[in-house]
Amino acid sequence: MPAVQQSPLRAAIVPVTPFQQNCSLVWCSKTLRGALIDPGGDLPLLKQGVERAGVTLEKILLTHGHADHCGQAGILAGELGLPIEGPHEADRFWISRLDEDGPRFGIHTEVFEPDRWLQDGDTVAFGEVTMEVIHCPGHTPGHVVFFHRPTRFAFVGDVLFHGSIGRTDFPMGNHQDLLDAITGKLWPLGSDVTFVPGQGPTSTFGRERESNPFVGDAAMAGV
Ligand SMILES: [Zn+2]
Repeated sequence: MPAVQQSPLRAAIVPVTPFQQNCSLVWCSKTLRGALIDPGGDLPLLKQGVERAGVTLEKILLTHGHADHCGQAGILAGELGLPIEGPHEADRFWISRLDEDGPRFGIHTEVFEPDRWLQDGDTVAFGEVTMEVIHCPGHTPGHVVFFHRPTRFAFVGDVLFHGSIGRTDFPMGNHQDLLDAITGKLWPLGSDVTFVPGQGPTSTFGRERESNPFVGDAAMAGV
């Protein structure tokens, strides 16, 4: 697969916060410029990872407004002078209540204002890498997924997990929206797409279509 070998995207997963949320350090191997996706907490650990990889951060990318994903994004942005891109503006209410939610989840959090809200069809870039933005509401109304088409790699936050899907019992959560987003927007990207979920191991869309009890092909046929 020459296209993949030539692609400059590199990624490393660093689980953070008491929830072991999968923060991803992504970077361009040509320029060593990169971004952190969902730096929810454990900032010293993340900074160490960035330094070890020799990456210069250009920005912070956010999938959605939950405390374990973005509770310390504003703090990191302030410390390092980085812009925050994402999530979709429909998650504004989640970000505005971070001060209340953080202590509830045992995370020190800070409210912030993203520099750029994202919409379906937008792109985000660092170094020579460009990723597509896919709006996938349901777990939260403003949840977005980042997709790197050349390497068939997606960062899906709490939309989809290996063997499970995101919770929809939060304010403004919507189970049908989540099912529609996964089957209508993620599956068409291809069964060969590998994804990093908000928690737990990576998987592929194909594997989940085969065996996921919530959104697998058998489960959807039974609906
Ligand atoms: Zn979440």
